[in-house]
Amino acid sequence: MNPTSSALPGWSHVYSGKVRDLYVPEQASGLDDAAAVLVVASDRVSAFDHVLEPGIPGKGELLTTLSLWWFDQLADVPNHLLADHRLDGERVVDDIPDAVAGRAMLVKPLDMYPIECVVRGYLTGSGWSEYQATGRVCGIPLPAGLANGDRLPEPIYTPAWKAPLGQHDENISFERTVELVGQDAATQLRALSLAIYTEAAAIAERRGVIIADTKFEFGRDRGTETITLADEVLTSDSSRYWDAAAWAAGATPEERMASFDKQIVRDWLAANWDKNGVPPELPANIVERTAARYRELLERLTGE
Ligand code: ATP
Ligand code: MG
Repeated sequence: MNPTSSALPGWSHVYSGKVRDLYVPEQASGLDDAAAVLVVASDRVSAFDHVLEPGIPGKGELLTTLSLWWFDQLADVPNHLLADHRLDGERVVDDIPDAVAGRAMLVKPLDMYPIECVVRGYLTGSGWSEYQATGRVCGIPLPAGLANGDRLPEPIYTPAWKAPLGQHDENISFERTVELVGQDAATQLRALSLAIYTEAAAIAERRGVIIADTKFEFGRDRGTETITLADEVLTSDSSRYWDAAAWAAGATPEERMASFDKQIVRDWLAANWDKNGVPPELPANIVERTAARYRELLERLTGE
């Protein structure tokens, strides 16, 4: 049992990732025979694969609200929300314990693909690093002369292998995803990822927000075998969100990439930690600025 997840009557804790805790109904023996999974988002924040202290107040609820809002926007894409899970003013179904209401989703357990389906519409982060070294990202050649934060000629699919807890995810080529999951699934994962990104980026852009890049996770439905959108979707943890007006007007990379995600945390950590040993505690002003930017993103997107 992870010390940061708490006991929920009627549910057994089965897994804790860096940010989320998974529970199954207590009569199930694990994820394999569970009819439902409760995915609870905590306020934990991770950067460079380390969970930091303290958490960001309200982050778990924000991630959950954003995911639910996006699942609703992308209604034509099969997703893992259980059928009775609707956004009817009241956020969630009766089965969700009060203790985690607002930051939990009730989902169908899927056989997850071991691939982080990353799509980039803009060049930055690990994509920018790889491009500077090789002129390519995940094997995809890009035009010469691109700068950090530039928009790409078209969105690209740059998958990563989902490393077990404690190891670092690794950028891989499309061909490697074929070896991992087969030609058919690999092709579908790429097509779905690009289509969802394109649809979502257009929705966000109408609200003055750029989705620079994002990561999707998919699983296979155990009954129908349908490839199903799972995990969190288009949250500020799984995506880089920038202010579109700042990007258009900005002269420097810093001005162009005014972010609504945890880049504030990453930047502070990169400047104050040599990545050895335990990361330092986040100062209160960094926590507050991050929380405020998260709230602003939600307002911009959902209008709430
Ligand atoms: P991180 O995302 O920070 O790299 P993580 O992926 O290990 O870490 P979390 O995101 O905190 O951990 O936990 C969510 C876990 O639940 C992930 O392992 C994800 O693959 C899994 N998951 C999401 N949706 C489903 C689903 N419908 N069925 C089974 N597992 C799922
Ligand atoms: Mg995850």
